[in-house]
Amino acid sequence: MSRYFDASQISLAGRSFSQAEQLAGRYFRVTPGEWKKCRYDVKTLAYLDKQEVREGAFAHLCRYEYGEEPKPEGRQFYRICLQDDRILNAIDRAHSFIRPAPLLLYIAAHELVHVIRFVRGEGNFDATDAEKANEEEKVHRITRNLLKPITDTDLNLVLECFSDRYQLGDLLQ
Ligand SMILES: [Zn+2]
Repeated sequence: MSRYFDASQISLAGRSFSQAEQLAGRYFRVTPGEWKKCRYDVKTLAYLDKQEVREGAFAHLCRYEYGEEPKPEGRQFYRICLQDDRILNAIDRAHSFIRPAPLLLYIAAHELVHVIRFVRGEGNFDATDAEKANEEEKVHRITRNLLKPITDTDLNLVLECFSDRYQLGDLLQ
């Protein structure tokens, strides 16, 4: 049976994304105009469609096209699909070592780095699996640097547990 975030965990996820947006904005020097192009939303497991659910991943990044915009880039938006059950299980398994707040912040920052890189054309959503593995490593490195100004013991543990070799599984199709 799937486990879902409760109300307090959903609001924690929301706060994590706001904080990650601020940190990523500063790190990448994202202008307000550029933020407008970074169209994304965040959904938790209870609100996901079947194809958005990924077992064994913390998050799944989907790209959709919508609207009447003439340019393809203008029609695209990203959906960050949080897999509540996997996240909750990881927290339980680690007992008190992994805290929910730093784990969610790490996931949020990692996903936003993907979105910004895709929108800027620095990462390719339609890449091959080998290229995606490469992109994952890059994104992990960037996420680490981006979080550096606020890294404390708890966040460091999250970063260490999810080392370069660790894949969030978010780009796999
Ligand atoms: Zn990723």
